[in-house]
Amino acid sequence: MNKQKKGVLVVVSGPSGVGKGTIVKTLVKRREDIVESVSCTTRAPREGEVHGKAYYFLTRTEFEQRIAENDFLEYDEHFGNLYGTPKSFVQKTLEEKSVILEIDVVGALNAKKAFEKCVLVMIAPPSLAELKRRLQGRGTETDEEIEKRLSRIEYELSQKDKYDYTIVNDDLEQAIKELEDIIDRHKNTL
Ligand code: ADP
Ligand code: 5GP
Repeated sequence: MNKQKKGVLVVVSGPSGVGKGTIVKTLVKRREDIVESVSCTTRAPREGEVHGKAYYFLTRTEFEQRIAENDFLEYDEHFGNLYGTPKSFVQKTLEEKSVILEIDVVGALNAKKAFEKCVLVMIAPPSLAELKRRLQGRGTETDEEIEKRLSRIEYELSQKDKYDYTIVNDDLEQAIKELEDIIDRHKNTL
């Protein structure tokens, strides 16, 4: 990646249900110069998820072929499914715009290894009780899936010292503004 870049690569992590998707989707709607990278996954689409928007939904064979072709900036397995960031899209887009990756802590630290100048941002909940409430309120997972996601929370939040910034998503507008300010501070510096 040695061409002059206008954007910054920002990796947003945090426990499932903390509000990552809500923050990132609102920000990219407001700003034409900030886009979200669409990851690939082998998990089944949830209701309403469109191929190429929420994720590129691939079979395991297709995903493994792309691993072999070195086509992921990083990839990882969660809850029995593979998830990965398409490298070519990120490289091309950074020439003009900032790119946000919404990935877990392991993926974020791998992305930092692959691309040192990326900025890592952790989204934290105001409390565990509020996080659980949001996860249940979203209503997209079974109770068993919610328990699996909750069991990872402590680990994910324990990694926040490895991140460049932590944003507490209490007031949504404030959290969006904090992410926007971080991107504006770092863009044009790659
Ligand atoms: P994630 O992408 O981190 O898994 P979502 O963006 O899907 O989380 O948010 C989980 C739920 O919490 C959604 O129903 C969303 O509307 C809600 N939510 C997000 N941010 C806030 C906030 N600041 N206050 C209250 N509810 C929120
Ligand atoms: P979900 O199935 O709820 O959409 O996502 C499950 C987990 O996969 C979340 O922790 C999410 O951050 C992570 N994830 C989504 N896309 C990627 C990706 O491209 N790479 C990695 N490493 N994790 C991802």
